[in-house]
Amino acid sequence: MSEAVVVAERFEALYGAEPEGVWAAPGRVNLIGEHTDYNDGFVMPFALPHTTVAAVSRRTDGVLRLHSDDVEGGVVELTLDGLVPGADRSWTAYPSGVVWALREAGHTAVTGADIHLTSTVPTGAGLSSSAALEVVVALALNDLFGLGLKGWRLARLCQRAENVYVGAPTGIMDQTASACCESGHALFLDTRDLSQRQIPFDLAAEGMQLLVVDTQVKHSHSEGEYGKRRAGCEKGAALLGVDALRDVAYDELDAALDRIGDDEEVRRLVRHVVTEDQRVERVVSLLRSGETRAIGPVLVEGHASLRDDFRISCPELDLVVDTALASGALGARMTGGGFGGSAIVLVDATDADAVTKAIEEAFAAADFTAPRVFVAVPSAGARRVV
Ligand code: ADP
Ligand code: MG
Repeated sequence: MSEAVVVAERFEALYGAEPEGVWAAPGRVNLIGEHTDYNDGFVMPFALPHTTVAAVSRRTDGVLRLHSDDVEGGVVELTLDGLVPGADRSWTAYPSGVVWALREAGHTAVTGADIHLTSTVPTGAGLSSSAALEVVVALALNDLFGLGLKGWRLARLCQRAENVYVGAPTGIMDQTASACCESGHALFLDTRDLSQRQIPFDLAAEGMQLLVVDTQVKHSHSEGEYGKRRAGCEKGAALLGVDALRDVAYDELDAALDRIGDDEEVRRLVRHVVTEDQRVERVVSLLRSGETRAIGPVLVEGHASLRDDFRISCPELDLVVDTALASGALGARMTGGGFGGSAIVLVDATDADAVTKAIEEAFAAADFTAPRVFVAVPSAGARRVV
């Protein structure tokens, strides 16, 4: 039986009628461009085959009923009038935040819904289960209520749900990736104007694979550290008199660092963001000219910058990268917000097993929790399934 049929049956068991439709939205992994999205810079995510699936029906009575197979507890019933930003500390803040953001943006045609969710996106692994959840709900409501939203417009509302309703200060990358990615491609996204280009990224055709290594580590202080980095970047932009660090040209980096003076922390943050934007552009141009193997060293540079300048790596992520490179990988780096989560490893397909084994052994020897390793195939963005 297909997954969509199972989800639809579960919906019927919960709510007593078939759903009007079933939608799916993927998690994502960021190939390059880390902590650039709140600096108006470049990112380059691609969608995972892992998706959050939603079976949904409209309601007209101002009631929102939510259920997820992935959390304890039964159906949660809320009223649209009662949705208040910042008040809900549980998982339901993500889908209700989307409903709130839609209605607040004037889409008052959304008059309630019954929603059942199930997901294969690992949560809290830096693979953006939160964006998958927001985007699948937004797309379902968009289609059912005929809101006419698409692509980045949908993503923006989901970001607003996460920033304002949930209270997590994230950039626009995750939601745009989940909404807009295409199979066999990475998404080159300019986070300033949200212009995008689909860049062919078909590793299998070239005998390579990209492994995702979920370290299963999540440090509790990551949110506070994220806020500090973000504030430091804003300080750097203010010191340099630019709107965002995106406006500091790579060629002018040394002069810019001189102008910042002796604030060593701000200098490091600025150096990471400016060099990272340039790394995204290098990866785009390498992929466009078919030099896929050559992106490996750029990924490694990106990791060093996140570890040494942005200082958001951790022993587990460094161990993945060091072990992968020592056992024949073409490139590796941490991906996502940092302080845990996942790393990506580019390998010749013939080396994938040996590199995976080396990482698992290194984790066992260091007494770290065993990592989860899977092959990431660039997959489709959000879509209606049934
Ligand atoms: P990430 O996006 O990296 O996976 P976040 O902390 O941003 O991590 O989001 C994870 C949170 O999103 C979970 O703690 C949960 O509240 C919510 N969430 C994600 N997927 C689901 C799901 N399938 N069902 C219920 N809640 C989910
Ligand atoms: Mg998230």
